[in-house]
Amino acid sequence: MLQINAFVFNPFGENTYLVHDETGACVIIDPGCASEGEEGQLFGFIDRYGLKPLMVVNTHGHVDHVVGNNAVKRRYGIPVAAHPDTHADIVQAKRQAVWLGFQPVGDIDLPEVALGDDEEIHVGKGVLQVICTPGHAKGSISLYAPVEGWVLTGDALFCRSIGRTDLPGGDYDTLRESIRTRLFTLPDDTEVFSGHGESTTIGEEKDFNPYVAL
Ligand SMILES: [Zn+2]
Ligand SMILES: [Zn+2]
Repeated sequence: MLQINAFVFNPFGENTYLVHDETGACVIIDPGCASEGEEGQLFGFIDRYGLKPLMVVNTHGHVDHVVGNNAVKRRYGIPVAAHPDTHADIVQAKRQAVWLGFQPVGDIDLPEVALGDDEEIHVGKGVLQVICTPGHAKGSISLYAPVEGWVLTGDALFCRSIGRTDLPGGDYDTLRESIRTRLFTLPDDTEVFSGHGESTTIGEEKDFNPYVAL
């Protein structure tokens, strides 16, 4: 069974997720740690529980989700995986990290592993399925754990809201279509863990999300 732990990092209040199973295998989703203190929280948790990081996975390329990529890579010697369409945003993210004064500002390399639609990421005995959900950013993906019944949606779908679509690569119609055809087709009791804010369920968002009327 996959377990999930959340950390809230950087001035954007970004949710960094640690997904692990009983073998100790783990993946770090969207490491947004932007200070030595935040890196210490993430690394301290991984080390305290003896977890074995396999890779970093980015749901998309915005700075608040990728700023900690290289710190995690360096510490554990693991690759970063993302959809190739994220690359333009990741190039921008490094410049934004400097403007925003994130510390320590280092390089943010392009991902080494390319993820595509319906691909599976094995975490110990558990499986995460890649679901392409573009619209908030190019190359946005969600990660669905079918056995456990939850989905990580990045900045595509939030509790009672959706991701902004006014940034480069954003498109409102594309995002609505992604949510309606790829997320709202998951079982209603699927728990939703977003890139910001609290968790929700697919069923609740179908009923109450004002931005994605069915
Ligand atoms: Zn974003
Ligand atoms: Zn974000």
